[in-house]
Amino acid sequence: MIRVAVAGYAGRMGSAVVDAVTAADDMVVACGIDPHGEATDFPTYRSIEEAVEAGGFDVVVDFTQPSVVAHNIDVALGAGKDCVVGTTGLSTETLEGLAAKAKDDACLFYAPNFTTGAVLMMQFAKAAAPYFPEAEVIEFHHARKKDAPSGTAVRTAQMIADARGFESSAPGKETEIEGAEGARGALVNGVPVHSVRSMGFVATQEVIFGSMGQTLTIKHDSWDRTSYMPGVLLGIRSVGERSGLIIGLETFMG
Ligand code: NAD
Repeated sequence: MIRVAVAGYAGRMGSAVVDAVTAADDMVVACGIDPHGEATDFPTYRSIEEAVEAGGFDVVVDFTQPSVVAHNIDVALGAGKDCVVGTTGLSTETLEGLAAKAKDDACLFYAPNFTTGAVLMMQFAKAAAPYFPEAEVIEFHHARKKDAPSGTAVRTAQMIADARGFESSAPGKETEIEGAEGARGALVNGVPVHSVRSMGFVATQEVIFGSMGQTLTIKHDSWDRTSYMPGVLLGIRSVGERSGLIIGLETFMG
């Protein structure tokens, strides 16, 4: 039985993780960590320090906030606990720095997107990138999302830039009208990224490629937070056999 601590258990993603872990027959929710959580049928703590001191878990799943996640990982890895992290906003440099301090071969697994469909979208974008001079990413999320652009959009832009091996001119950026800067999106590794925040969305992303006389659009929609759970459970099952830093669900998708 894998004993799982859920950081952010009172949040939207954390409560979905609690339900998914509870429903799986090879793991159990050992505790929840959340300063805004209420008492429930598993032990709960206000901070990662309290949880580590109490012990009794093997892996921490973190869906909290960009402002606290690095500290949570730092404390958990320092105590030799494997981490499965979905909270976005962490740079590769930060992740590398955190993983370097892990004790007892603990593993830090970070996935900017835990849906298998989004991982495939990124892989398809990587395959298309060398054949199209232009690429743009448009992502749509619910209005309460705290970071923009999304971690998936940033990762997609990095993968496109790496795969195409040439610099795009990102046409039109220089023609943005004064007072309306940003109309052509934020440039992430030379790829314009546009972030829509609105009621009605969970998570959607389109990658639009352009070449002479043709466009190619790759689109993924998450309609429900349950879409992330098979990936989260795969991460929980996989980290115990690994150590160091692992980025991306594709690592475990074979
Ligand atoms: P949310 O605001 O609903 O939940 C966050 C929870 O974290 C809250 O209950 C809050 O009280 C708690 N929290 C705050 N500080 C904490 C701390 N120090 N320790 C423990 N818990 C703490 O947010 P959400 O919609 O569940 O999203 C959480 C994160 O997950 C965001 O960064 C979001 O972008 C990310 N996310 C990632 C994926 C992915 O596939 N990687 C998918 C969806 C969301």
